[in-house]
Amino acid sequence: MLIGGIEAGGTKFVCGIGNEKGEILDRISFPTETPEITLKKVVEYFKDKNIETLGIGSFGPVDINPKSENYGSIRKTPKLTWTNFNILEYLKKHFSISMVIDTDVNGAALGESIWGAAKNLDNCIYLTVGTGIGGGILISGKLVHGMLHPEMGHIIIKRHPNDKYEGKCPFHKDCLEGLASGPAIEERWKTKGDKLPLDHEAWNLEAFYIAQALVNYILILSPEKIILGGGVMKQKQLFPKIRKYVKEMLNEYIQADDVLKNIDEYIVSPKLGDNAGLLGAMALTLK
Ligand code: ADP
Ligand code: ZN
Repeated sequence: MLIGGIEAGGTKFVCGIGNEKGEILDRISFPTETPEITLKKVVEYFKDKNIETLGIGSFGPVDINPKSENYGSIRKTPKLTWTNFNILEYLKKHFSISMVIDTDVNGAALGESIWGAAKNLDNCIYLTVGTGIGGGILISGKLVHGMLHPEMGHIIIKRHPNDKYEGKCPFHKDCLEGLASGPAIEERWKTKGDKLPLDHEAWNLEAFYIAQALVNYILILSPEKIILGGGVMKQKQLFPKIRKYVKEMLNEYIQADDVLKNIDEYIVSPKLGDNAGLLGAMALTLK
């Protein structure tokens, strides 16, 4: 079966075709402009590709409730031309094939559970730490949707006593995203994350915040694997720091070998690498 996938990001769109084995046969990428300009390119790309089904992993917030009249619409977003724009409706006008839309991170969680780091596991979470922080949740083999969709980046965490930075979130200031997103790192330290030295205190602080979030997710969701992606997580030195903090904060309360003995295999990078978003979008059609 030929599957189409769209990784609809706030910065760029990636479109591609592939199959159930997780093989990508072709892909293209272009910057995100207005919906009309961007989606015209999407339609142009898929026009002669003969795909049988299409999965869309979208930036959020997006209405992913198939029963809702706004199913497939982007909700209120700083990218104003996209607010209330219905991606799914637009594409359905051009292609009469089955389509699924979900969040990009739900797609990534599912893709990793089919082909990647959480292969053969029914419970995992995927967290991206980039321009924003967001997460996808797979529980008992199903993606968590609920009222809208999870917003794992906006949880409330404890501030580090030495951290005087007010926070970047326009809604909550010092929620997780407000304190630990890429732009928060840049504003706090007046340097982009990729320019900070490996031994800079920024990374300890970053790990302290991400670890708190993971502890909350572990306690509430009991995932079998935690996958951390996004631009900021390219700082590989964060992983051992995060794992150490998670262990300390849980303080042996969770009596599971995944945490106590094998945490290096429990909190991991995405295995699908740069294809995680596109494969995630394709994976949505397989559920
Ligand atoms: P997006 O979230 O927009 O889809 P990314 O996941 O690449 O894209 O996240 C971009 C953010 O991550 C920016 O704030 C950028 O400064 C930060 N970032 C990207 N690469 C690195 C890196 N190697 N180290 C630290 N921060 C990075
Ligand atoms: Zn927030």
